[in-house]
Amino acid sequence: MHLYDAQKIQIYNTLSGQKETFKPIEDGYVGMYVCGPTVYSNVHLGNVRTFMSFDMVFRYLKHLGYKVRYVRNITDAGHLENDADVGEDKITKKARLEQIEPMEVVQRYTVDFHNILNTFNFLPPSIEPTATGHIIEQIELIKMIMDNGFAYEVNGSVYFDVHKFNETNDYGVLSKRKLEDLIHNTRALDGQSDKKNPQDFALWKRAEPQHIMRWPSPWSDGFPGWHLECTAMSTKYLGDNFDIHGGGMDLKFPHHECEIAQSEAAKGQTPVNYWMHANMLHLNGQRMSKSTGNTVNPSELLSGDNAFFSKAYAPSVIRFFNAQSSYRSVLDLTDDGLLASEKGFFRLMDAINLLEDLKPSSESSFQVAEWRQKCYDAMNDDFNSPILIAHLFEAAKHINQVKDGNASLTSEDLELLKKTMNAFTFDVLGLVNISKAETGTDKLSGAVELLIQLRQDARANKDFALSDKIRDELAAKGIQLNDGKDGTTFTTN
Ligand SMILES: [Zn+2]
Repeated sequence: MHLYDAQKIQIYNTLSGQKETFKPIEDGYVGMYVCGPTVYSNVHLGNVRTFMSFDMVFRYLKHLGYKVRYVRNITDAGHLENDADVGEDKITKKARLEQIEPMEVVQRYTVDFHNILNTFNFLPPSIEPTATGHIIEQIELIKMIMDNGFAYEVNGSVYFDVHKFNETNDYGVLSKRKLEDLIHNTRALDGQSDKKNPQDFALWKRAEPQHIMRWPSPWSDGFPGWHLECTAMSTKYLGDNFDIHGGGMDLKFPHHECEIAQSEAAKGQTPVNYWMHANMLHLNGQRMSKSTGNTVNPSELLSGDNAFFSKAYAPSVIRFFNAQSSYRSVLDLTDDGLLASEKGFFRLMDAINLLEDLKPSSESSFQVAEWRQKCYDAMNDDFNSPILIAHLFEAAKHINQVKDGNASLTSEDLELLKKTMNAFTFDVLGLVNISKAETGTDKLSGAVELLIQLRQDARANKDFALSDKIRDELAAKGIQLNDGKDGTTFTTN
């Protein structure tokens, strides 16, 4: 008997526009794909929010006992500046501007991406494939789509024929758009494009002579289209039809719409049963945007070195803040909001820290089994983490009452309460039990957290000289690292 037999999840499926009872294709197994970052710049905080939400989904599915294969890719080629298949490849452009190899760009920002995610206590995905590692699979997919008559070649580039596809299939099934409206709303081609229609999208692009990232294909030396990469990588590892596909709301159209079209055109079946989309992150009530300056990157938020926030916030406080909203709501990042979350976070940690010292009684004044099911009900309702947190606070209140002698728990209930609090707080929400002293009121904690993470990475790479150096240099500055069974904490002299 697994937990998932008793706990049935409802998932809001973008495809149907409603919550549906989750039923995996194979009992006990879940295949989940989430579109990863294009590694041409430091990871955007909005993307961190998306990946954080799916980290929670991954954690909850695992907690229920599912064997989850979670695939999150790295886009290291083919993502053009403009969705309409024009402009430069983002990575090639960065390489040109910085006068380095495209693969140096990829390496630098992949490392940054992993460091940030580790800092936020993400679980690594089961597989993290790269687009450049799957060129052959992408060429094979293009051949299938062409053989089925849904793509055409012009001057060495291959385009998906959206109009032809829409005669037999529904282009717009996910984003609820109609091709007629799209035609009406797109500007006519200016004669520069090889496409038959502006709605068509590139499966393969012929590389210009100066383009470094290029691979041989039956059509030209070139590179794959961005939408195709995800179809190739998701279906290779999860099958032609798999359970869950996630991503940010901004990827719904055209990216995910194109993924569906490609799969249907190549394999004659829809690729995904449940489409999940995480909503956007705003900063002080407005969209984050580099051009308006209303933006903060993850390391600035952690270090406190920014113009928007009064202090540094610990990674777990930011995780807690994120979990206090549904993944489907717009989340507005504000200093007041983070301060309130920090208070709430420590209220919860204080209660959890009390659990070990509570003395059991012969009776319980708190129905722990009922409360536990309410926690599951919250998460089963489309991963409703804000409701879960409300239940965790309810338990925290009772824990404090037991400590003060105003309430009681039997030893059995106390054990169940401990187990459930720990499971939801640490395993599912991915929080780390840090003390207030560690966060401080200054910018120190974020920076030290980052160093602790770098030291862990160094140890994982068997670079003990570097890991010792980080520990010793911090010690020389009065910051002691303490390695415990739950990770590394720090104290200051
Ligand atoms: Zn994708």
